[in-house]
Amino acid sequence: MPKVLISGASGFIAGHCILEMLSHGYEVRGTLRDSARGEAIKAILADYTDRIDALEFVSADLMNEASWVEAARGCDSILHVASPVPVVQPEDEDDVIVPAKTGTINVLKAATASGIKRVVLTSSVAAVTSGSRDSGTFTDQDWTDLSRNDLSPYVKSKTVAERAAWEYAKQHDLELVAINPALVLGPALEADYGSSLEALYLLMRGSYPILPKLGFEIVDVRDVAILHRLVLETPEAAGNRYMCANGFRWFVDIAKTIKTEHPRLKIPTQEMPNLVAKIAGVFLKEIKQFLPDLGRVKAIDNSPALAIGWQPRDADIAIRDGAQSLIDLKVV
Ligand code: NAP
Repeated sequence: MPKVLISGASGFIAGHCILEMLSHGYEVRGTLRDSARGEAIKAILADYTDRIDALEFVSADLMNEASWVEAARGCDSILHVASPVPVVQPEDEDDVIVPAKTGTINVLKAATASGIKRVVLTSSVAAVTSGSRDSGTFTDQDWTDLSRNDLSPYVKSKTVAERAAWEYAKQHDLELVAINPALVLGPALEADYGSSLEALYLLMRGSYPILPKLGFEIVDVRDVAILHRLVLETPEAAGNRYMCANGFRWFVDIAKTIKTEHPRLKIPTQEMPNLVAKIAGVFLKEIKQFLPDLGRVKAIDNSPALAIGWQPRDADIAIRDGAQSLIDLKVV
């Protein structure tokens, strides 16, 4: 069976990618920064697959070029998912930009060295939606403008890394495909649930009494994983970016969806005036990074993904199943 290398195997999205690839007959090699975590992660994933023996782990760090050459040897393709995803943005933006970019180039160089033709890069709508327009519908033609002075380190890191990947692919005749997910929700596989379910966690814990008028395009993590497989298996996907989202929701809508399912939880459903949010952003780094998007609808055109057979579930399912998983895993 073809063997696929999946970077960042300890992560939320990569875990679902591993399960998706195993369920379609692939051999999977996952990379971990800390290989001591391999057995524990295997034990978690074993609950969701009967092909756990087709999964192996190797050690690799984004900043260590040699580790990727070793990891890629004998693989047929790569899903490069790993990248720093900080909940709170670092003081020094290079803490995320450098590993994101260097790691991506290291992975692509390893693909070239191993004769691997196709690499799927997990980019983000962060690399798409902060360009010359601040609202509207964004497509694969849109790029975040790195000359803007309101970009968070994470947004810059995803933009710089994806740009570098396309440049490398052009020079080295590599079949690169980028997937640009919006906010990824859906079920966590383990209690150490990663960064993107943090928004649900904070809502469900009632951490904020009222909610900023922020909205996000949402996608279910299981559909993100399916799209990774689809673009790997679709010859004409090479060279394309696939926007990966399926519905815009305001924060308050997300809260109401969870509240309907779990009325006993003290979930806020009141919206904060934008002025108050701006003041809160001065004190709270978690809010500050989102201030440029206050009150803005940034919709995503997912039609290229639909055209290759992607059938994403509704955003409300991603919200509901993500929330339920945090309860089942006793996180909330
Ligand atoms: P996650 O759960 O935090 O996973 C990130 C993964 O990257 C972890 O496995 C982490 O390994 C690994 N990583 C970070 N720095 C590394 C380094 N220096 N060397 C090796 N591995 C490193 O986040 P996620 O939500 O699954 O995100 C996965 C990818 O999807 C990222 O590229 C992210 O930008 C992208 N994405 C996510 C969302 C979202 O809403 N979640 C939306 C759009 C795009 P450790 O466990 O060792 O830290």
